[in-house]
Amino acid sequence: MSIKSINWRGATCAVLAAALLTGIAGCTPVAVQGSSPPAGPIEAAAEPNWTSGGMVAAANPLAAEAGAEVLRAGGSAVDAAVAVQGVLSLVEPQSSGIGGGAFLVHYSAATGDVITYDGREVAPRGATADMFLDAGGKPLRFFDAVRSGRSVGVPGAVAMLELAHREHGRLPWRQLWRPGITLAETGFAVSPRLHEMITAVVARGSLPANSAAYLTLDGQTPRPVGSLLRNPDYAATLRRIAVQGAKALREGPIAEEIVSAVRADPMPGTLTLEDLRDYRPNRLEPVCSTYRVYLVCGMRPPSSGGVAVLSVLGILSHVDMAARGATTVAGWHYLIEAQRLAYADRDTYVADDRYEAVPIAGLLDRDYLASRAALVSPDRAMQRVEPGRPPGAQLRGRDATGGTTGTSHFVVVDGRGNVVSMTTTVESLFGSQRMAGGFFLNNQLTDFSFTPFDDKGQPIANAVAPGKKPRSSMSPTIVFRDGRFELAVGSPGGHAIIGYVAKSIVGMLDWGLTPQAAVDLPNVIARGLVVAETARMDPALIESLRAMGHEFRGGRSGGEASGIHAVRRLSDGRLEGAADSRREGKVVAVPYDSTR
Ligand code: GLU
Repeated sequence: MSIKSINWRGATCAVLAAALLTGIAGCTPVAVQGSSPPAGPIEAAAEPNWTSGGMVAAANPLAAEAGAEVLRAGGSAVDAAVAVQGVLSLVEPQSSGIGGGAFLVHYSAATGDVITYDGREVAPRGATADMFLDAGGKPLRFFDAVRSGRSVGVPGAVAMLELAHREHGRLPWRQLWRPGITLAETGFAVSPRLHEMITAVVARGSLPANSAAYLTLDGQTPRPVGSLLRNPDYAATLRRIAVQGAKALREGPIAEEIVSAVRADPMPGTLTLEDLRDYRPNRLEPVCSTYRVYLVCGMRPPSSGGVAVLSVLGILSHVDMAARGATTVAGWHYLIEAQRLAYADRDTYVADDRYEAVPIAGLLDRDYLASRAALVSPDRAMQRVEPGRPPGAQLRGRDATGGTTGTSHFVVVDGRGNVVSMTTTVESLFGSQRMAGGFFLNNQLTDFSFTPFDDKGQPIANAVAPGKKPRSSMSPTIVFRDGRFELAVGSPGGHAIIGYVAKSIVGMLDWGLTPQAAVDLPNVIARGLVVAETARMDPALIESLRAMGHEFRGGRSGGEASGIHAVRRLSDGRLEGAADSRREGKVVAVPYDSTR
């Protein structure tokens, strides 16, 4: 889809919306009530005079610097993404890695094209619908399933980056792995967050022997903050990837190591060399909709992220959110209610659409979303929220599978105006905690529903099947206005990602906040009960929401799992980035170099 093909000037929202249908299979626009039509230059998409420089916003300073180094060397946004992933896998192995999967949304400034890359893990041929049930037919305990070999899907992140690099790379592939190789060989200081995450998994029970040796001093004592961690096995793996590409993980000694790690006790998985050999990443059209004067683009299935974020925004487009600011009860009330409705639909209808008919067009249909918005009362919380019946939907059971916190999001804007918004994951902390080739293997298959049917016997769209991809919540997003890049954003956080991303977009676009202030807003997730970062909220606001009938789930709150990273292009052309203070990320600006 090219944003150049859109008539931005003077187009009514309906016309703009109709234009978006071209080339976006299954994407219908949301209604944009009461908003002004998009205005601006028609032919503004290509940006030959881009003078904004580049920027990287990532969850770890070493990774952000590695991406910036690539940009300084004249690399593209995709080039930088490869370097960022190579380093994240080493320094933030709890959150993402080359043993996991990823989604990438790409904007090409020269052509105006928005395209997405799907590097989601797939279930091996031997996977079965009951593989997360015990002998009595009951779901396994979540962490038993996580640490089993059954949870490991065929990794896709490197293959996806290879495909994106083939299409958008400027620097040689092998050069991009150097920062990761160097750091793995010379070592890096264990960060406070890495130490904290090691401590958390050690406290939960014993680590598999091969990862315990890596993460702890003696199998039990977490490596202390500041201690030097070298990973020569990982360096050797990256050297192979640098030369052979993703093939290095599909066949040969690393592939064999992956298979034996998956097939080890307890509860071995079925993954084979054939499963690894046959993995292919996908290039997919984005799912896009208008939101007020903006065009918002994200991932289509197997992620639920794009559809769900657009559902939240589509419902909110019926409310003047700008008139209800970031400190108002009404503003948060509508954000909560829109999430509750969007999550109910997402939980029910979204899964891998190569296996299940996902009614994307119906879920984003303007009349359908208007009917959902009409359920929201201005002064009372809805008593019950049920999934709707969007056009084209078949009856499905609701799947409450969540996803935990082994994910990272980063944004890269290069010196030509190309943009990468990439969310990358091993699913839980350190994935399955099984290692091969110096990296962690994902546990992405626990994102499937553990049971194939709900209590009423309805089939669940997100049930396990061989070759299928588990439903994701990852929501890498790019927003455009008047034919130009406006902002890119995303986050880790399992199902809560959808709420984090929607909040950040509303914060920036409706509430007029800077990217950092929008990221810093309290995280308030409403999938069923409200889970909120109450420590960041005014107690009077919480009381008022309670008085409206919103039920808060207690505890320290689910807000800490976010790691929102964003870059926005300001009206004067400068870039402004944000790194989530809940993690240890960094924004690095790379100034414009007029000699390039
Ligand atoms: N595995 C989850 C998903 O794909 C992400 C987990 C997380 O964000 O930490 O949606």
